[in-house]
Amino acid sequence: MHIVFAASECAPWAKTGGLADVVSALPRTLAKFGHKVSVFIPYYRQVAKAVPDPPVVLQSVTIPFPSYNRFVTILDGGLAEGVQTYFVDCPELFDRESFYATPSGDYPDNAERFGLLSRAVIEASKVIGVPDVFHVHDWQTAMLAVFLRSIYFFDPVFRHVPAVLTIHNAGYQGWFPPRTMEKLLLPWDMFTFDKLEHYDTMNFLKGGIVYADAITTVSRKYAEEIQTAEFGNGLEGILRQRSGDLFGILNGVDYDEWNPATDSHIAAHYSADNLAGKKECRRDLLHAFGFEGIGDDTAVIGVVSRFATQKGFDFIVAVIDKLVEEDIVIVILGNGEEFYERLLGEMANRHPDKVRVQVKFDNVIAHKVEAGSDIFLMPSRYEPGGLNQIYSLKYGTVPVVRATGGLDDTIDEQPNGGGNGFKFWGYDPLAMMDALRRALGTFRNKKEWTEMMKRGMAQDFSWEKPAKEYERIYERVIQNRS
Ligand code: ADP
Repeated sequence: MHIVFAASECAPWAKTGGLADVVSALPRTLAKFGHKVSVFIPYYRQVAKAVPDPPVVLQSVTIPFPSYNRFVTILDGGLAEGVQTYFVDCPELFDRESFYATPSGDYPDNAERFGLLSRAVIEASKVIGVPDVFHVHDWQTAMLAVFLRSIYFFDPVFRHVPAVLTIHNAGYQGWFPPRTMEKLLLPWDMFTFDKLEHYDTMNFLKGGIVYADAITTVSRKYAEEIQTAEFGNGLEGILRQRSGDLFGILNGVDYDEWNPATDSHIAAHYSADNLAGKKECRRDLLHAFGFEGIGDDTAVIGVVSRFATQKGFDFIVAVIDKLVEEDIVIVILGNGEEFYERLLGEMANRHPDKVRVQVKFDNVIAHKVEAGSDIFLMPSRYEPGGLNQIYSLKYGTVPVVRATGGLDDTIDEQPNGGGNGFKFWGYDPLAMMDALRRALGTFRNKKEWTEMMKRGMAQDFSWEKPAKEYERIYERVIQNRS
């Protein structure tokens, strides 16, 4: 079948988080199965830097707005591993410093930017090739599903084309003022609580949930959680209504990119059979964070994360004074909300011998943290799928996580120490501290620890299995609409 992905991120060109990894790896796996797969992403400034002069596929696609048209060019991002990438070029909207926001807040025209992206993919598909199914991701392209069933309702080529929406994070929904309906040429009778209206805003993600043929999210647990008030962020009602079409599919991992036996970003290669290289990676990591003279008995705790409330940094801040009394050092790589950049910077200043923070997005350092740490800490308040804990398993870096969403699905703590990591349930920094103490206790028993590392390294989270599940969902929605 022909599957068209529309997304706001795709690694390696445009990435802020796990969405980009999924939109890069899932299409390649589907292509391996023999499907024709195309991926559309915006031609952001950052993409243009990496791919300066791609060939033009469609010179001008007209996207109408109430009092003007915008003209989009579709560029050829190349065919790699069976996946055809297209860039949607609209310099007025995408040639900017960042993807979504400035430090002072979201771009005010995000509704227009991502509304245009969704329509451009529909329009381009009419010329380049109508797919059997569209696969859209998060609020940024959720409107594609809405457009298909509204302003494109009478278009004969899309009549039988379904859309699947994947929710990578229900905490970001794309809330816009009601007048956005007119801006995107949508009729006001769709601005009701059972369609696009949500607490007097227009909600892109909600629209996608209502109009997509199937909805998926990135772990089984999160699929359950988002149907509750605690995690649904106001969408739990509409998600419960659609529970028959809602599926949790745990994200896979791209082991071409995340494998200590082949990783080109780390100081030495290693595997479960020969862990010697991990020591070298640990030394290299400590050096990269400016630590000297740290012995083997000191546990290196690593964190790689967007700086956002979701990720539970307040838990770390709350217990740090106690935590530094243990024989540990902490290395943190991340960027995002200024508040957390400051807070974590202050924490590092207070404990310079124990805590180091690098505030940036840096893929190479991210790999070094995965390889060189002993423990990977992910105390997320909620975590739809989470990739870093799965990477950690492969790198023999034992995860300590909060038992939520994908973290709960992937990390297993056994009372007799037989699992692959440590987890805590309570929404409580002390519960995290307890889990860390349990991990540090096991760390001191080298034999038990090595066995736990090896159990994690032996686990297989490759994309084949989840990609098969997506395939079944595509088949189901295509059949339902034919
Ligand atoms: P989320 O998508 O919520 O940010 P995930 O764990 O699903 O969380 O995915 C995060 C991805 O982004 C991982 O590939 C991780 O390595 C990467 N990442 C996050 N922050 C950084 C950073 N500061 N530098 C490099 N990579 C990062």
